[in-house]
Parts: sequence; structure tokens; C-alpha cells
Amino acid sequence: MWNFDYCSTGAISALLNENGLSMTKRFGQNFLVSSSALEKIAGLSGAKAGTKVWEIGPGIGALTSCLIKTGADVTAFEIDHGFCRILSEKAFHDTPNFTLIEGDVLKTWENEFSAGKAPDVICANLPYNVGSVLIASLIEERCIPELMVFTLQSEVVRRICAKTGDNQYSGFSVLTAMDYDSTEVMKLKPGCFWPAPNVDSSVVVMKKKTQSIVEEDLADQFISLVRILFSQRRKTIKNNLRTLYASATVEQILAKCKLSGLERAETLSPEEIRELALTLRSHLKHQSISHPV
Ligand code: SAM
Repeated sequence: MWNFDYCSTGAISALLNENGLSMTKRFGQNFLVSSSALEKIAGLSGAKAGTKVWEIGPGIGALTSCLIKTGADVTAFEIDHGFCRILSEKAFHDTPNFTLIEGDVLKTWENEFSAGKAPDVICANLPYNVGSVLIASLIEERCIPELMVFTLQSEVVRRICAKTGDNQYSGFSVLTAMDYDSTEVMKLKPGCFWPAPNVDSSVVVMKKKTQSIVEEDLADQFISLVRILFSQRRKTIKNNLRTLYASATVEQILAKCKLSGLERAETLSPEEIRELALTLRSHLKHQSISHPV
């Protein structure tokens, strides 16, 4: 394997210069240059020989090389064509357990997933601009590996880990809580990255629950309901629901769930939202049976 000092900013600059490349803010390019952080993150992934790992945004391969050393089968998704050249022609050209998927991960991951190549683990120092969108789309499309380990802005990590009633609790917290128990395991100062970002970062470990809060056949309904309930945070749940359902339907399902409707979404636990989704589904089913089209 390529012997490159990923923690030397001098070596990285020289490599980029030699290849006519530069770091792009637009793609959230902040390389991890702390060897202890890189090793810890790869260790948290639990990757070992045969584990199917997805890495999003490998850059020039710092975390990738730690993952590859474990013997895991690493599939990496990278948008920057210059970095892709370095990965495939220099860093891992002779590495059988490395696969590169070039392009925007938001457009490419679903092809891999639907081709039956679901990962066991996802481990990444996520580009900040796509972090939460990507995590939400993985969960919404039901790509839910046993473990996900991400480096993200601390603020996003706090939203993932937030519990009902916390300031940071949001629709995103409910979505991630549906399938994962999430823990912030490590904070990383801006100096662990090159160039240093102007925000703090954290590592979050998202461990899949033994049982999801929501039955698989209710997942779509639950996800849409979360979207509706949190669509306008200042509105009561009744008013948010009324944007989509008839007033009578809203009154009936709220009564069945013993909710006044004056609550705001951030006061409802994921379990209460599940109950609401279940009641709504059964109400709509009965309605369509009694009023066939
Ligand atoms: N993994 C490297 C590390 O830890 O040093 C680089 C991490 S850097 C924060 C984020 C990486 O994601 C960059 O290499 C960037 O080019 C890539 N990236 C940004 N947006 C992307 C997207 N939409 N799809 C795939 N890769 C993306």
C-alpha cells in the first residue's frame, strides 16, 4: 500500500500542488490530520476482515487507509475527480479490498444499495454540506446498517442525539431515533483538520436498535408524519396536521391518541409519533373502506 504521511500538511500540500489540485470549500474539504483521531474513528467502526464498509468522502484516503488495513471491504464515494485520480492511481491502485464510486454520493449510493451491496457499517468524516441530508436519506430509504460512525459539526451531532424536550430536538432527532441509539463519543477541535474549519466537530456513533421504534410497514407513514409535524415548529401539531388532513380526521386521531392538539412537535416522543402514525393509518384505512371510490 501507498506509504503517505496523511498527517503532514506539508506532504498533503505538496501532493496537491504536484497534481494541480486544491482544497474546495464548496465540497466541505477539511482533511483529518490527527493520527489518533483517525485510528480511533476506524476502531469505532469495528471493521474487520470481510466487513462491508462504506466511506463517504475519502478525500485522498486518510481514513480509508486505516479502514483498509483492517481487511474490511471498503467502498468509498468521492465527488472530487482530482482526489479520485489520487485514490485510484496512487493510493489504492493495487488494493483489492477497495472500490471507488466517483460522483455525488447523494446520487450514487442508492444504485449500490439497490444492487444488493448494502453495507454492514458506514464510517466517514462527512462533508458538512451534505451530512444531515445524507443521513436522512439513508434512513428514509431504509439503508440502515448495524453501525454508523460519523464526524460532523458538533451542532448536527447534538441534534442527532437530542431527546424529547431538549433544545436541539427536531424532526431529524426523531428520524434518527427511529432506528438508532446515538452517542457523541468524541469532540474534535478545529486543529485536528486541515484546513481548520471555523466550527467544532464531534464523532457520533449510531448503533442500530435491536428493534426499530416503528414497524417496517409503518415506516413511510411515520417519516411523512414527522415531516408534517415539524414542518412549522411554531405551529401546534393540530395546525400542522390540518395542512394535510381534514379537520374531522385530525380531531378524531388526536382524541384517540389522547392529545389536545395544542402540543408542539418538539414535546412529542418518537413513540408518541409512532402511535399517531398508527392511528392515522388505521383511520384512513377505515375511511376508504366505508367510502369506496
Ligand atoms: N475522509 C477525508 C478525511 O477524513 O481526511 C476527507 C473528508 S472531507 C471532510 C469530505 C470529503 O467529502 C471531501 O473529500 C469531499 O470532496 C467529499 N465530498 C463532498 N461532497 C461530496 C458528495 N456530495 N459526494 C461525495 N463526496 C463528497
